[in-house]
Order: sequence, then C-alpha cells, then structure tokens
Amino acid sequence: MSVDIRLNTNDRYSRMKLVKGVDIDAIRRASICVVGAGALGNEVIKDLALYAPARLSIVDMDCVDYSNLGRCFLFDAADAETSNSKADAASRSACRINPDCRPDALNIDATSLDSAFFSEFDVVMGCVDSIRTRLHLNSNCYFSGTPYIDGGIDGLYGRVQTVLPPHGPCYGCAINGTHLSRVDAAFSCTGREANIPIRQIASDPSICGMVGSLQVLQGLRVISGTLSEGILLFIDGGVPSMMPLELTVDTKCANHILSVV
Ligand SMILES: [Zn+2]
Repeated sequence: MSVDIRLNTNDRYSRMKLVKGVDIDAIRRASICVVGAGALGNEVIKDLALYAPARLSIVDMDCVDYSNLGRCFLFDAADAETSNSKADAASRSACRINPDCRPDALNIDATSLDSAFFSEFDVVMGCVDSIRTRLHLNSNCYFSGTPYIDGGIDGLYGRVQTVLPPHGPCYGCAINGTHLSRVDAAFSCTGREANIPIRQIASDPSICGMVGSLQVLQGLRVISGTLSEGILLFIDGGVPSMMPLELTVDTKCANHILSVV
C-alpha cells in the first residue's frame, strides 16, 4: 500500500503540523499576551501571528515614531507620521500577515495590569526595556501561576528567560544589585519618560529576530506541554554562540520569600 506524503497545499498550517514537540491544535486554542510592541515585540508578534492563537493580546502604551522604523517591520512611515499607537499598528499588521489572527490591542501601561489579568493567559511574553516593568510582569505572572517568558537585547547580546511558576527561579532571581539600582528608570524605548539618565539600548534587528523567535519557541513548547523546566539562555551574536546559564532560586527574591509565608 502506498502512502500519500503530499502536503495539503490549501492548509496554511500543514508544515507546522509536522513539527515534533509543537502541538498546533493547542496553540490555536491558546491565549497569549505580548507586552511591548517595540523591536522585540514586533518579532514575537509576527511569529505568533503565523500561528494565530485564539487570543493574542498586545499591550503597549507608546506611539510609533521614525526611530522605530529601522527595526520594527510591523510599522510603516504612515504610522510614524500620525504617531499611531504601537499596539494598534502591530495588531493591524498581524492581521494582514494572517487573517486568522485577530489580536486585541491594549494601549495602556502594563504596570497597571494585575495578576487577575495575566491569569487569563497560557503564556505572557515580556518584550520591554524597563526593569521595573519586567519585575511587575514577573511577579504578577508568578503569583497567578502563568508562564512568563522574558526577552532582552543589548547590541549583539540577547537573553531569554522562561519562568514556569510555581517551580524554579524567576526573573527576580536572575537580576543583581546593578539592575535593581535602575528599577526606577521607568522609560519608553525613546527615553522620553526617563526619570534618571539612561543609556539608550543598542538594538540590532538580527539579534531581535533571534531573541524574539526563541521566546516564541519556548512559549509554543510550554503550551504544547513539551517544556517543563524554566531556563535562561544567553546569546552572543558576536561569536556567535548561545548557552544556557545555571540559575537557582534566590531565597532573598521577594517572590519566593512571600510564597513560603
Ligand atoms: Zn525569584
């Protein structure tokens, strides 16, 4: 008996269904929140749009300006000309990439969202510059039991941390005193809202692509039930290399102290 190995060319997802370790049906039913629609968020939203999860929420309080156009392919000059909302512009582009994907855009400060909001999602993707916002996402996801995948870039360096509460280390366990000294630097990627002097973060589109795709891959595996342990990955695009970093629970981390009270 011969086996028909031809793909269904009318099925947009036919090749994705062949990937082992990724459950396309579970992903299509999933709810995913992307916080931050800048350079990194653009990459994450693009990849997720191709999968079209049942719910894709995009959170960003910023507007598009010309400095975004060099790295953010979901935005165009018209968005910058009219100072369009990043969340709205990214949502519209995601829809164009895949009409099955109908994101909802939330033009609000992510730090105004609480654990009840984040508990509605299967995975939350952190694509922000601000350490304060990261800590907010990390804590609210941790206490709502929501997997949190944090991405970060700086020039040719990148990091991706997958936090799977209630087990293992969280983002708070991975930061040090230098990071904490910058917590009050609540700024947008343009630096307009900085309340202390900040260094503009160097951003390379290729590293953004690598970090964003790794975030999505981790998220897809969490939803598919094929990733059961948190991990911190460090990328050095100058070598290039990618390595997992050893990370343990910091008993002084507020999330873990509170969890045993
Ligand atoms: Zn922790």
